[in-house]
Amino acid sequence: MNKVGKIATVIFLIVAVVIVVVVKQNHKANSGAVVDEGSINSVVGPEVEGPETARFDASKGLPRLVDLGADKCIPCKMMAPLLVELKSEYEGTLKVEFIDVWKNPDEAPKYGIKLIPTQIFFDASGKELFRHEGFYSKEDILSKWKELGVELSAVSIPSFERFEPAQADNRSKDNICYMCDGDIAPSTLVNVSTEKGPVRLCSPHCYFIMYSCLTENKTGFEEKVSVADWATGETIVASKAMYLYGLDGQTGRPIIKAFTDKIRPNQAASGGIVINWEALQDKELAIRCGFCDRACYPQDAAEVIAGGIHTYGCCSHCALGVAARTGLDIEVHERDRLTDGPIVVKTLDGKVASLEPATAVAWFGQRKKPDGTWGSAGCFHQGFFVTLENLKEWVDRNPHETGKMITIHQALANKMKLSPEQIQKACKIGECAPK
Ligand SMILES: [Zn+2]
Ligand SMILES: [Zn+2]
Repeated sequence: MNKVGKIATVIFLIVAVVIVVVVKQNHKANSGAVVDEGSINSVVGPEVEGPETARFDASKGLPRLVDLGADKCIPCKMMAPLLVELKSEYEGTLKVEFIDVWKNPDEAPKYGIKLIPTQIFFDASGKELFRHEGFYSKEDILSKWKELGVELSAVSIPSFERFEPAQADNRSKDNICYMCDGDIAPSTLVNVSTEKGPVRLCSPHCYFIMYSCLTENKTGFEEKVSVADWATGETIVASKAMYLYGLDGQTGRPIIKAFTDKIRPNQAASGGIVINWEALQDKELAIRCGFCDRACYPQDAAEVIAGGIHTYGCCSHCALGVAARTGLDIEVHERDRLTDGPIVVKTLDGKVASLEPATAVAWFGQRKKPDGTWGSAGCFHQGFFVTLENLKEWVDRNPHETGKMITIHQALANKMKLSPEQIQKACKIGECAPK
């Protein structure tokens, strides 16, 4: 080897060592990973092509995005779901590759990367156009391709919407709960007299949800509220009634029955404790949505872990809103509205860091507002589903629901863009009132 060759070899080795050191340090810094690596492997592993793909492969003549990262590095994990989406949405117009440089240590020097994750943009001939270090959002990646003059056309983005109900809701307005849109049974009716007329609710629980959303001064509010005696249907001032507070053996949700003065045999038989209005109110208002402050039952809510503290989202979208309200990275445990199948979302810096299963989608229930625009239909009309098929099936079974499918990334982004003022009044009556 001549002198120049030796020097070149030495320089190459030094550079290689530096890269390995930098990449290793990164490994160390991020080794306290929040997100379980197995899940991400299963997201990225089979979906995105591995390192065996040649660097300058131009056989298909497609532009190529190569993401070099590792399964234990947090920003790399955040890239994983985006890569899966880009790969499926731009199939046939863009090649998307993920290279794990910790599992394949020879790859980092080949691409000359200093940090992970690094994304490298190649044109259809294999020429490098641009590279970026660190987390790079899907929106930024797409606008960068555009800026580089590469037109990508999205194909086969799964989408689903229904803006006309499959069936008109012909129920009498008197029989529809103002809060949840459910049927009102005469035995559990709650009536609130307001200046705009009576507001009828299906149960004391729906009443307390409404009450917890009111922004007006609530002094003396209970005088406007009446309940039906569970056995006779007789109207009672709510604050004067007594309540039998039991638990549903199957769902674990409270069952609340109001009565005038004495427990009748059929009420006593159903079990529970006897409490007055104040005690009922304390119980009902004890658990609130971590985003919108609504009263909720844990059985109906999504569980949210934020900064080690457990709270709830009264609906799946509110659960994601806890990240916006607190500024913390959160973990949401929600169930498919059709099958109860588990869905786990973890966020990092206001973005989805992991989603299990990766096929999960959200339904954004919307309603036409009086001004003709579409707005949120309220918390009772939102949900997550394990697959788009489950969502479609649920929409089929609920002919009055209107809205559209959105990705869970979009659902989170919708919350993250809210201002503190918007978060403060989120879901309060008037914002998301059913009618
Ligand atoms: Zn209701
Ligand atoms: Zn909420």
